[in-house]
Amino acid sequence: MSLSERNSYKFISDFRDVEVSLMTEISDLINSINPDLIKRILVDLVKTPSENPPGSTSDIVHYLHTTAQELGFSSEIITAGPGGRENHVASIGDSTRSIILCGHLDTVPAGDVDSWKFPPYGGHEKDGFVYGRGAADMKAGVAAFLGAMASLNENKVPLLHKIVFTGTAEEETTMIGAKALLKAGIMDHADFLFIGEPTSLQVGIAEKGVIWLILEVRGKAAHGSMPELGVNAIEGACAAIPILKKLVPLDKSELLGQSTLNIGIINGGSKINVVPEICTLECDFRLIPGVDADKLATSILDSLKNLDNMNPCIFSSTFSSKLPALYASPDHAVIKNLMKWTSNLSNASSSPIGLTYGTDAAILAPATQVPFAIFGPGDPSMAHQTNEKVSVEEVVQAAKTIVATIAEFSQK
Ligand SMILES: [Zn+2]
Repeated sequence: MSLSERNSYKFISDFRDVEVSLMTEISDLINSINPDLIKRILVDLVKTPSENPPGSTSDIVHYLHTTAQELGFSSEIITAGPGGRENHVASIGDSTRSIILCGHLDTVPAGDVDSWKFPPYGGHEKDGFVYGRGAADMKAGVAAFLGAMASLNENKVPLLHKIVFTGTAEEETTMIGAKALLKAGIMDHADFLFIGEPTSLQVGIAEKGVIWLILEVRGKAAHGSMPELGVNAIEGACAAIPILKKLVPLDKSELLGQSTLNIGIINGGSKINVVPEICTLECDFRLIPGVDADKLATSILDSLKNLDNMNPCIFSSTFSSKLPALYASPDHAVIKNLMKWTSNLSNASSSPIGLTYGTDAAILAPATQVPFAIFGPGDPSMAHQTNEKVSVEEVVQAAKTIVATIAEFSQK
């Protein structure tokens, strides 16, 4: 064996030693995850209502602020908007570059409380599940993130990244929480973004874009007994519906399937004996990457112009929401690590998935082109349901997977 061969052998051997010791440290870290702490945080979060509407996250943010300080994290509260809309930011480490663990703190309302098996804000535990509004979507993800950070902090793992938890307000509606974080510069030095939405521990690397388009149809009022003197806006809206359906792009994405349209609200008319002057259609488009929202709106209005001859209404459109579709490369090191640890530690599929709905990533990721993964405990079909629940074991598995993934990617 030549000297250079010996040196390269030694290098490989050193490298293996480093790798073996890293794997040992990671398995120690996984074992250090504290299920009792995670369950306590989850139950406390469920017991702290944060319904949206009305949208205040103040109570839950103050709970998290205290908890983060008790765990030895840096912690701050960032105002996101009026009416108690607050974000919570907690971090460990002092590196310049960061990894963001983002979870929304608001929930949809509990609805009819009497139809719940257990009170929606009781934090009731049964057969390994915690029940309550927000248990899966997504107080479980928040508890898993904090449990993972506690383990990294207690074990004083030397990391190349500052680990930053961000709890956001208003994800279920306007996403002003995420927008406030962006404005505060949270994403400026981020190398990766985790979103803890419930995915049953599957790894989401794509999400559909959201376009809420309000189509206003304007006709001409007249007495209902003389409809020939008016232009019926409701009839104009009905004539527009098949045209809107035809304009949904047909392209398919491997992870996201096809773009879709749901006409969620139709509003028009004032009295039975009046030809309606105005009718509005609220159209919820869910689009795969590559579809341009503005071009779609232009082609909708262009197509509706041809309708004028048969039904001389005037059509105009506005957007009430516009979020881009997102796609992250499955070859990114964090995503590869996440897939590996997911299949090592749980029974979840090792193939990446796409989500049909938008998350805070739609605000946080595009601005800085930061790669992302949507990964969290809880069955996505539980979201917004009566008797929402989450498996405590799954929340603990999520924390273990996150801690292993971060340690492998970021350890010095
Ligand atoms: Zn959610």
